[in-house]
Amino acid sequence: MITINENYLKLQDSYLFSTIAKKVTKFQEENPDKKVIKLGIGDVTLPIVPIVGKAIKEATEEMLKKETFRGYGPEQGYDFLREKIAINDYQKLGITIQKDEIFVSDGTKCDTGNIGEIFSKDNIIAITDPVYPVYLDTNIMAGRTGDYHPNKKQYEKVVYLETTAENNFIPELPKEKVDMIYLCFPNNPTGTVLNKLELTKWVTYAKQNKAIILFDGAYEAFIEEEGIPHSIYEIEGAKEVAIEFRSFSKTAGFTGLRCAYTIIPKELKAYTQKGKEVNLNQLWSRRQCTKFNGVPYITQRAAQSIYTKEGQKQIQENIQYYKENAKRIRQGLQKAGYTVFGGKNAPYIWLKVPNGYTSWEFFDYLLETANIVGTPGSGFGPSGEGYFRLTAFASKENTIEAMERIQNLK
Ligand code: PLP
Repeated sequence: MITINENYLKLQDSYLFSTIAKKVTKFQEENPDKKVIKLGIGDVTLPIVPIVGKAIKEATEEMLKKETFRGYGPEQGYDFLREKIAINDYQKLGITIQKDEIFVSDGTKCDTGNIGEIFSKDNIIAITDPVYPVYLDTNIMAGRTGDYHPNKKQYEKVVYLETTAENNFIPELPKEKVDMIYLCFPNNPTGTVLNKLELTKWVTYAKQNKAIILFDGAYEAFIEEEGIPHSIYEIEGAKEVAIEFRSFSKTAGFTGLRCAYTIIPKELKAYTQKGKEVNLNQLWSRRQCTKFNGVPYITQRAAQSIYTKEGQKQIQENIQYYKENAKRIRQGLQKAGYTVFGGKNAPYIWLKVPNGYTSWEFFDYLLETANIVGTPGSGFGPSGEGYFRLTAFASKENTIEAMERIQNLK
């Protein structure tokens, strides 16, 4: 008899985006004359920049010729890309990352989901609450979370690090001992960041407790304020306790092209049950070579092109476009009397829903009165209740119109 991984049955169905889609469809059917503006999307909307298109065309030409055709590439990524990453994303910050500490992949979603494979099922995980759902769900699948408690809306073995307005969206160090700590800053969904001092506390905790930090820096390109680390390796000693994930998705509009990378420093160790040190760089390399055959050559050439002077200029223009939208939303909401967070170093704006509303009730209110779609905070975890997420990825025109509509509600 074939049996299943029953941990999958512990997953709570995420009705979040399907429920939103259903509600919006119904509203549009009933109100065909109303223009609905979607500020719920977490995907980029501007096309890839010209230099990336050029690199794709050139690489395609190479693939068409017998002399320059490429088949399987190195599982960890081509050196031409890894070198550019090491120089541009790390050396410029004063951080030395070797080429073979960089693992090029097809997405941070896959990497943050797959990384759990090299860790024991007995590790205790800590996640911020609210959270990007991949960290939790992949640990449920792996059997690391225990059962779900519907009353608390929490899994029994998971340590939830609340991030709300009450603690300024700064997660407190856990009182209990945890082994795997997922941190994502700039944060999705709250759009908030951690400064160097706060991040240092986590590195110190990880060292003292022989824990590991899984640091998701997917929104690094949106950081504008001084004192906000662009990499966890800006913190002294972090190479001994942290894996960093970065993605070209939001940095360069690669959500459809798919390219990302993961840094596993050679200093980084974990332990066997008997306490013997194991090098995680080698373990992950072994895993990738076994299960992954690399990112397409064409895609890696496309990613490489963003590190040219022209490439940086072009992707910055797009990032600035989204950042201006974020500013419009932040200021527009404040003008309308809302309390808002995030949106400065991130494309996400997290707002407090008015008293008396749940996140979902506010969703309905905004859809029905202003014809605007956002995402209820409760969809990202129990501590997201009472909050609402808007994103900066819509067009400038729609963002301006949405803010006018919200201000006119008052
Ligand atoms: N990490 C975070 C925090 C995200 O919000 C997202 C996408 O929304 C991802 C990772 C996905 O990255 P990728 O497109 O590289 O898989």
